[in-house]
Amino acid sequence: MSTVEAPKKERWSFQWKELYSEVITAGLCTGCAGCVISCPHDVIGYHHEPGAYRPFHLEEELGLDNCVHGEKGCTTCTRACPRFRGWEHEANEHLFDRDRTPEETAGIYDDILLTRASDDLVHRTGQDGGLVSAILLWALREGYIDAALTSYVEHDDVWKARPGVASTPEEILAGAGSRYTYSANTLALDEALERGFSKLALVGMSCQSSVPPVMWHRKAGKISKPIVFNLGLLCSKTFDDSIFEELFEAKYGLAKQDMAKMNIKGVFQIWMRDGSYHEINLKECHAWTREGCTHCPDFAAEHADISCGGIGKDNDWTLTIVRTDLGREIIRRMIEDGSIVARSADEDPAAVALMHKLAQKSRERWPSWADAEVRLGLPEKKKAGAAAG
Ligand SMILES: Cc1cc2nc3c(=O)[nH]c(=O)nc-3n(C[C@H](O)[C@H](O)[C@H](O)COP(=O)(O)OP(=O)(O)OC[C@H]3O[C@@H](n4cnc5c(N)ncnc54)[C@H](O)[C@@H]3O)c2cc1C
Ligand code: SF4
Ligand code: SF4
Repeated sequence: MSTVEAPKKERWSFQWKELYSEVITAGLCTGCAGCVISCPHDVIGYHHEPGAYRPFHLEEELGLDNCVHGEKGCTTCTRACPRFRGWEHEANEHLFDRDRTPEETAGIYDDILLTRASDDLVHRTGQDGGLVSAILLWALREGYIDAALTSYVEHDDVWKARPGVASTPEEILAGAGSRYTYSANTLALDEALERGFSKLALVGMSCQSSVPPVMWHRKAGKISKPIVFNLGLLCSKTFDDSIFEELFEAKYGLAKQDMAKMNIKGVFQIWMRDGSYHEINLKECHAWTREGCTHCPDFAAEHADISCGGIGKDNDWTLTIVRTDLGREIIRRMIEDGSIVARSADEDPAAVALMHKLAQKSRERWPSWADAEVRLGLPEKKKAGAAAG
């Protein structure tokens, strides 16, 4: 009897050199900092600054585009990068044991709900329904996590988002709300580990929420173990910090320090401390789109346990996409014990339709020369002249 040998899997030999040429200089890098936190030799730096949000190599021995440790066999950074080669398919396989179908442009999910925190303070402090904060508070209390990698603001600049660790209810609420500039929350991992935390939730933009499953699938090592819960934020773009001075202040006289809240609902909404309200056309803001977002295909945080967004006819609910068993368990238990109020998203079909539309729109940004599977489900582009006649 003859036996057919399974094809041998290609050895994973890719290092900073490949990451640099195929992701960073190719324009696919989102600035998620997965490579930075994973590097066992600490040779990848990161500029968390306006106009930057990019990793760079700290050792120049082989030039900025190659790595001494990579040449000796280290491959951790490419194992952590959720834009390197077949990242989407691999994360899907890891989380769901299957790839997404063409219809699943918003990723694989189990259920969509509209939710809000039952606690009035949490609800009011949150950006939409306060769900993210409510989940973190609940998961901390119930022992699912001992801290969260999340985002804060600077003491002297309330709109400068920065990564940080939240391990108490006060810290969780201090970070609530949305800043529409970038915060690479993954970068808070070092601080969390230094402080002795070992069961972490990651709150991250879509790009960041693909980091843990990609790391797990590609066996990036012990650095991927402490993240046990993955909360994603729906996202079509972030803006460079210069938008405050160059557009909001220069053209509309809206000073950053006087802003009380902002949101994006078809327009950029800004509430000022003096009680005034302003709307700015999103088209005007496009020029300040952060570079790392320009090719991002993931609107719906497709690899999170639970993905959260603000789409919907009611402002103060969170659109909640439940994706994994863990996500399902947490939402079910929170509804049962009254921590959150939930209703079916069937009550707001326009919100779900918009979510799918925006998911498709983001996928269209993924270049056709990169991994073709990411564009699965997009309508075929008509060839010039094909429609004639
Ligand atoms: C930059 C950005 C773009 C977004 N774009 C969309 C969109 O296009 N469509 C949509 O439906 N929803 C979008 N959202 C999600 C939405 O604004 C809310 O975050 C989401 O609905 C959860 O609301 P909540 O009240 O449940 O969260 P909250 O309880 O207010 O918790 C929000 C959490 O997000 C964290 N956070 C805040 N700002 C940032 C940041 N810049 N980077 C990383 N983490 C941050 C906070 O620290 C907090 O943990 C975006 C969010 C952000 C931050
Ligand atoms: S996408 Fe993220 S992991 Fe990949 S190179 Fe950029 S910062 Fe690093
Ligand atoms: S659009 Fe959002 S998810 Fe995509 S790269 Fe930008 S910040 Fe990340």
